[in-house]
Amino acid sequence: MSILVLNCGSSSVKFALLDLKAGTTHLSGLAERLGAAEASVTLRAAGQTSVQPISGGSYADAFAAIAAALDKQGLRGGVRAVGHRVVHGGERFHAPAFINGEVLAAIRACVPLAPLHNPANLAGIEAAQAAFPEAAHVAVFDTAFHQTMPEVAYRYAVPETWYRQHGVRRYGFHGTSHAYVAAEAAQLLGRPLSGLNLVTAHLGNGASIAAVQGGRSIDTSMGLTPLEGLIMGTRSGDVDPGLHEFMARQAGLSLTQVTAALNQDSGLKGLSGGLGSDMRELEAAAAEGHPGARLAVAAFVYRLAKQMAGMAVALGRVDALVFTGGIGENSAAVRAAALERLGVLGTRLDPQANEQAVRGQGGLISAPGSVPALVVNTNEELAIARTAAQVLNGEEA
Ligand code: AMP
Repeated sequence: MSILVLNCGSSSVKFALLDLKAGTTHLSGLAERLGAAEASVTLRAAGQTSVQPISGGSYADAFAAIAAALDKQGLRGGVRAVGHRVVHGGERFHAPAFINGEVLAAIRACVPLAPLHNPANLAGIEAAQAAFPEAAHVAVFDTAFHQTMPEVAYRYAVPETWYRQHGVRRYGFHGTSHAYVAAEAAQLLGRPLSGLNLVTAHLGNGASIAAVQGGRSIDTSMGLTPLEGLIMGTRSGDVDPGLHEFMARQAGLSLTQVTAALNQDSGLKGLSGGLGSDMRELEAAAAEGHPGARLAVAAFVYRLAKQMAGMAVALGRVDALVFTGGIGENSAAVRAAALERLGVLGTRLDPQANEQAVRGQGGLISAPGSVPALVVNTNEELAIARTAAQVLNGEEA
């Protein structure tokens, strides 16, 4: 069966049509600049890439273009399910869900928790239901995997009414990726996931780590929003909560301006003095001696290692460390520097294996006899498609 996977952002839709039995991707692409006159869709199929304008520029217009491309290849009738990435499922969703009126209302109720993401996800779902009425629509939540965290990990030490009335707690994100790489790591290690204690590090433009015990998340670095935790491309990660008022007083910034700066101008970009948020470029600049770039990379690694080591407290025993995401899969230097600091967990780098584990080459990067460290290539589209298929087949996902 074919599963269409959709990731709807405020002005873009990432999509892929996967055939799970054959293990192939029929078609993938990106509709972007939605809402603007120059909206376009890039389609990749059978090794060919084409770009075409989207007249109208709405989600509905984007899906019409995708449906037309599927029709052209005779693939539309085979779409059994549409798997939707939904960012925030609050405490309501511990698992993926068939989308019906009640589920849509529950996703809408989570809008205050993800005011940028959930409205786009909802608009995308409604347009996709109209465009693909024959298919089953399934919501797969970024937060659901972390709903197994114990209360000591997910509660903030704030007034209890904030939690009870407003849902102020840690939720965590990137759940689909953490779950996927944990399962892949177990396969690579040749051990059942049910008996493994893993620290997974999803390091991309957004970055988070998780403590995964027996395939269940028991702690993670992101919180109420995807701003908490690690240093990211443009996001600060952890800061003192007193900072907001301090900057409001010192610089006359509004709360909205402080939040925007912490999301868009901080992280690697902030530490490098505005040089950029792209790890590849920062590594190159650091190699040429740029002090801001050196600091940004070093601080990224330091925070990462410190928080990964902290997950040992959640797990009690660490069986393996797993790196994924654009940086985790490709930056041998970041992994080496992080593992150098993580000797405390009993892992030792195999420098040669580490250098080889780039550009899609995953595998073991630790020395024999030490706690394994692995590179696993994440595949959120495949994970969402599998999850949607499980829901369709009535299996526990
Ligand atoms: P993602 O959000 O998962 O696509 O990851 C994007 C991040 O991965 C950016 O910071 C990229 O610079 C980084 N990245 C991709 N390739 C490399 C590479 N070869 N070396 C270092 N960082 C990389």
